[in-house]
Amino acid sequence: MNFDFRNYLKKYPDKNGYFGEYGGVYLPDDLAKALKEVDEAYKTIAHSAEFISELRRIRKEFQGRPTPVYHCKNLSQELGTTQIYLKREDLNHTGAHKLNHCMGEGLLAKYMGMKKLIAETGAGQHGVALATAAAFFGLECEIHMGEVDIKKQAPNVARMKLLGAKVVPVTHGLKTLKEAVDSAFDAYVKDYKNSIYCIGSVVGPHPFPLMVRDFQSVVGDEARSQFKEMTGYLPDAVVAAIGGGSNAMGIFSAFLEDPVDIYGVEPLGKSTKLGDHAASLTYGEKGIMHGFESIMLKDENGEPAPVYSVASGLDYPSTGPEHAFLKDIGRVKYEAITDDEAIDAFFKLSRMEGIIPAIESSHALAYALKLAKQEDNPGFVLVNLSGRGDKDMDYVLENYPDRI
Ligand SMILES: *Cc1c(COP(=O)(O)O)cnc(C)c1O
Repeated sequence: MNFDFRNYLKKYPDKNGYFGEYGGVYLPDDLAKALKEVDEAYKTIAHSAEFISELRRIRKEFQGRPTPVYHCKNLSQELGTTQIYLKREDLNHTGAHKLNHCMGEGLLAKYMGMKKLIAETGAGQHGVALATAAAFFGLECEIHMGEVDIKKQAPNVARMKLLGAKVVPVTHGLKTLKEAVDSAFDAYVKDYKNSIYCIGSVVGPHPFPLMVRDFQSVVGDEARSQFKEMTGYLPDAVVAAIGGGSNAMGIFSAFLEDPVDIYGVEPLGKSTKLGDHAASLTYGEKGIMHGFESIMLKDENGEPAPVYSVASGLDYPSTGPEHAFLKDIGRVKYEAITDDEAIDAFFKLSRMEGIIPAIESSHALAYALKLAKQEDNPGFVLVNLSGRGDKDMDYVLENYPDRI
């Protein structure tokens, strides 16, 4: 590979929001215009010394950053030679990495003089993180959510309401995430002078993949220096789970210029059959959805295919455009882990280290365990533990009572 990674983060995306052939803005004119304003505000405001120092203070005092890097001694001893380290995003306020970009988006809204944050949510994790940010900044918050998901995710709906958000039920179509996205876009177009649309990952039209990556890059910046301080070295491999790809871009961004192997882990669900998994980079093709070009899983009509994963945070039929690019140029390897492998890793980390991981994050850990078993196994593996597993307890109790 002859790709020149120097200044990568400055060069990508380009000014139109492209990572190679992926990314861009594929939206009706009025929406595109609104996002152009956000892009311009982001470029000036978010790079001012005042914004940066305020965000730094919030991360420290409200979110509890930096989160630690932890050496899994018990697990590593059992594995033999490979040493597993975790970046503990489960200890970030609200229990996952999502708050990192929600606080950034909230602060930007505040500086832009906006009154309201608008977003959609599927399982409700993004909605809760954004409602938290809105409460902190004293902004209104409107979360669009499919009626089906509202029924399934009652505790998260209650959390959002407790935090002061308005939850808007979406009652058309399949009443899930896809319709919620459309509904949130509609609400935003109607009110873009007063509100900002806050996406939940490094997906969507430009500038979101850029903004969310930048706000999440604190994960990688912290982890890289913490790891060097602990061990004296860089890790040999860095591993993260891929839903839309934000926790992964957060940690990957600090290591792209380093001699470090990087792995993104997709959910292989129940099988390789379309509909049984959400491994979009592994099995998908080029396409446009939700306003951006990337690699996606399509059904026979070319529409986003139904997807599945035991980890609801990973079941999205595409991934951020930057991941499609990093795959094409060969910088990041994308692998897939099944439900069963992720669940095994979930139990293993809980039992051996006293850390109950999110099932999403368990995908990354499961792949790290696989790497450790290879003949030419890496010495140091750094896993992004994107979130905690408390939210998954009901599911695990119901489905694996004999393993507890
Ligand atoms: C939402 C979520 C993910 C997946 O989102 P990305 O944008 O791919 O990071 C992963 N882990 C946890 C704990 C989540 O809540």
